[in-house]
Amino acid sequence: MASIPIHQQAAVVEDPGDNFKILLRNDIPVGEPGPEEILVKLTCTGLCHSEVRAVLAWGAYKSIIGHEGVGTVVKAGAKVSPSLMGQRVGVKWLYNACTKCSVCQRGLAHHCPNQLNTSRHVPGTLQQYVVADARFITMIPEGLADEIAAPILCAGLTMSGALAHLDQELKPGDWIVISGSGGGLGHIGVQIAARIKKLRVIAIDSGDAKRKLSLDSGAEVFLDFKTEDVAARVLDLTGEGAHATIVVPGTKEAFQMAPSLVRNMATIVSVGLPPNHMDIPISATICAARGLTIKGSSVGTESQLTELLNLALEGVITPAIGVFELAETPRLIRQLTKDEIMGRAVVRIPVDQ
Ligand SMILES: [Zn+2]
Ligand SMILES: [Zn+2]
Repeated sequence: MASIPIHQQAAVVEDPGDNFKILLRNDIPVGEPGPEEILVKLTCTGLCHSEVRAVLAWGAYKSIIGHEGVGTVVKAGAKVSPSLMGQRVGVKWLYNACTKCSVCQRGLAHHCPNQLNTSRHVPGTLQQYVVADARFITMIPEGLADEIAAPILCAGLTMSGALAHLDQELKPGDWIVISGSGGGLGHIGVQIAARIKKLRVIAIDSGDAKRKLSLDSGAEVFLDFKTEDVAARVLDLTGEGAHATIVVPGTKEAFQMAPSLVRNMATIVSVGLPPNHMDIPISATICAARGLTIKGSSVGTESQLTELLNLALEGVITPAIGVFELAETPRLIRQLTKDEIMGRAVVRIPVDQ
């Protein structure tokens, strides 16, 4: 195995906010894993829409972002099993969790109040070598390409987690509306809903490319929110409104529209991440009178992730990816801030220093 350098390449966020910059540097020190940690040499990382929160300073993040990394373990801490060396692993949003709180005890570490997150509390995956907590990494199944595995780690898992919230309420053949259906998360959500859960999917997004991706992913109907009266069309198609909706875009309009898309007693799953000051704009009276349930959802469980990676290996779940070079990261993230990326952009990490 090649020796580990002292310095490495990385894409680094500077001046987060309206005038953010992303610089490509080659003088970033390679991290040193602690006793429970490993060092992973990355081959690629997906660019998640939530990177937008980091570059626009909607929250406090590390200057190296990214949380859909795939690579090989090249160094292991003293308490880590040596068998992990050389294994192909995924480095995701959940860096680690406390394992002791009531939420962790329920097997829901991704909602642990004491969790630490890759790119928020520890440096992310837009670098050649990332330090990860060995107890929380994900094994990538043999035969699954790195570039396909990467978007499963956050985009796929987030939609798997969101749909799991509806398992008790929906049955095959029920209607679900997924807004933001042509984005990195949305299109995988359409695939899981249609191909695995056997739901009838109404996809909402805008433009011909996102229409095609949504329909190819298994949506029965695509509605363009820029040109159509979406609520009227959904009512027309479903009779009383959909049985549930998942709000993927982090926009006020998407949340505002949600109650008008569903029937009474339906569930609205809240996934999109707008700026922290934006509340869900849904009338409390309407919520009560119509018996609506709003459920928050963020990523998902490790077993949901393993299941999804295997479905991707079998070709049942097929993330639509564009593969780019690390040097293209500044442009790609700028496009993400304008919702101009279709499917998922995956960045290749250079092999050599
Ligand atoms: Zn993400
Ligand atoms: Zn916990």
